[in-house]
Amino acid sequence: MPCIRYRTAISAHTEGDPLPPGVTEQELLTHLNACPDCTRWSKRLRALREATDDLLRRRRSGAPPKPV
Ligand SMILES: [Zn+2]
Repeated sequence: MPCIRYRTAISAHTEGDPLPPGVTEQELLTHLNACPDCTRWSKRLRALREATDDLLRRRRSGAPPKPV
């Protein structure tokens, strides 16, 4: 299965959404173990996701967003 198929699954997994049809979590983990590109991509996506969560948390708590 091509990486692009797993990227969709990784994205869903990061968001806490259900995996797309045809990809099981086990298959996803197996692919990540075998594919450094997808592992890197997954980490980047997760870091981005955490940064977004952090920003949203800050906004919800009323504090001003961190200046860039
Ligand atoms: Zn891959």
